[in-house]
This record gives sequence, C-alpha cells and structure tokens, in this order.
Amino acid sequence: MTLAHEMPPDAALPPRHDWTREEVRALFSLPFTDLVFQAASVHREHFDPAEVQISTLLSIKTGGCPEDCGYCSQSAKFETGVKAEKLMDLEMVLAEARAAKAGGASRFCMGAAWRSPKERDLEKVCAMVEGVKALGMETCVTLGMLDHAQAQKLKGAGLDYYNHNLDTSPEYYERIITTRTYRDRLDTLDHVREAGIHVCCGGIVGMGESLEDRVGMIVALASLPVHPESVPINMLMQVEGTPLGESAKIDPLDFVRTIAVARITMPTSMVRLSAGREHMSEETQALCFVAGANSIFYGPKLLTTPNPARDRDMRLLDRLGLRAME
Ligand code: SF4
Repeated sequence: MTLAHEMPPDAALPPRHDWTREEVRALFSLPFTDLVFQAASVHREHFDPAEVQISTLLSIKTGGCPEDCGYCSQSAKFETGVKAEKLMDLEMVLAEARAAKAGGASRFCMGAAWRSPKERDLEKVCAMVEGVKALGMETCVTLGMLDHAQAQKLKGAGLDYYNHNLDTSPEYYERIITTRTYRDRLDTLDHVREAGIHVCCGGIVGMGESLEDRVGMIVALASLPVHPESVPINMLMQVEGTPLGESAKIDPLDFVRTIAVARITMPTSMVRLSAGREHMSEETQALCFVAGANSIFYGPKLLTTPNPARDRDMRLLDRLGLRAME
C-alpha cells in the first residue's frame, strides 16, 4: 500500500482538468505537513520558489455597485460608509501606475465597481489599458460581467488579464450573491478566454462556508477548460455593514490548506495571496509561500480595504529571502 505521504508529486504530468470532489477532499484531509510538502514539491516543479509576482490594485471606480455580493464594501445595498465615486481620470490612473512600477510592481490591476461596463466607460478603460501598457507593465482589469464584444474590445486595447472570481462553490454561491448567477460568471470567463485574454479567477474563504464548499470551489476552478493563469485566494475581510461583517474568522491553517490544494490542483497557475493579508500573521503568510503561493497584491489598499504597508511587505520578503518576479 502506498501511503499518502509517500506519493511522489505528479507535477511532471500536464495539469489535470478532471479533479473529482473525492480527490480534492482527500487532499484537504491529508496531515498538514504532508499536504504542504506535496504542494511545495509541485510548486518547485513549475516555478522558482524564491520568486513572488507583485501586482498593484487600484480602484478606478469605487462604490455604488448595484450587485449584492455579501462580503463587499462597495455594494450600494449595504451601509458600509463607502461613497460612490466617478470613474477616475486617465492621467490620475497613469500617475498611480508609474508609482506602482517605481515600487516594483510588474502588473497593474484596475477595478471598477460595476455590474458590467457601459460602452462609454469601456472606451475610457481601454485608454487606461493602453496607457499602462505603454509604461511596460502587464495590465489587468475587473469590471464585472462582460459580453463577447466587450471582451474583444478590451483585447484590442492590449489587455493581458481579466479578473472575475467564482467566489465560492456552486452550492454555497446563492447564500452570498443573488444578483448574478454562477452561470453568468462562467459565461464572462468564456468570453474572456475566447478573446484571448488571460484569466484571473479565484475565490474567498472564511465566508461561513463548509469544508465541502472549499472542495467545491477548488473543483470548479480546476475544472475550467484552461486553468486560470492567476488564482487569487482571498481570506474574507469582515466589513461592517455587510451581511458577512460578523462572520467567524477562518483558522489560518485552513487558509494555508486552501492555498496548498489550489497549488496542487492548478500547478502552473500563479496562486495569489490576496485580500486578508492585513489580518494575517507574517508566519501564516510565510506558510502560504511554502505551500505554493507565489503572487501578492502590494500597496496600502486593496480596493477599499487596508493592505499591509509596502515597507512591511518588502521587509517580509527580505526576511524570507524572496524576491520580486520580473
Ligand atoms: S464584489 Fe464587485 S460586483 Fe460584487 S458588489 Fe462588490 S464591486 Fe459590485
């Protein structure tokens, strides 16, 4: 009999898209040390484990969103104190992008709190994408749902990545969002793929979901016809005024497990430590890097929630002997 901890990492094999719930559940159930060892081994097969990709995220249009994502400070349906703002000017966005580049970021992500972009707004975002590309940075935007033509237009502007998360398992989804369906999300991801834009797609843990929901979320992500090039795994930031503002905090070790299972099931994707780092100990973040996380958001704010100060991030990467990926 082969014990789980004796199994060789199967990282040399091409990524699989047929992960079953049983297999993913079995990964989550491994002893912590075996799981992290397996994830670290897979990570090393595909990436230099000393490199971390650094992205900066800017909210180009904050608040007033008509959607009802239960975790979000920007929904107009909840009293969170976030005011609705207009779309930022191109020049202000480019100034932020230049500062991010000077701070070491190689990818500049722009987020707008929309259900989906209106035509005139999309034109403006396309100009932002072109401007940021001209600075020599990779571009990513998250604008809500896209149809086929909108995705094509963004591709035409040179967009590299589109972020659209599945958030959670298909079964738990309706407890979190009612204004758009899981199918809507998959359709947007299809349009993005068809346009030839890379996909950034992950989820959030700590929303009161069960372990089985985490299994379902990972299976949904790892079953996409092409794995997302970036997989952000977020730890819920409890925002006062939202339905999830009082959620119990997730055990940090369960968060590390989710990172590890994402790494094993999507071996060639960048697994990103996203929201929630502000409330994570440096030791937990270090464990996430060991378990295969190799991307972070960097900068004082993640859309509207705080993110660790840049200096603290750099000191942590230094202490861990990690460096920014080119
Ligand atoms: S997560 Fe995005 S779509 Fe949902 S409420 Fe917030 S800004 Fe709107």
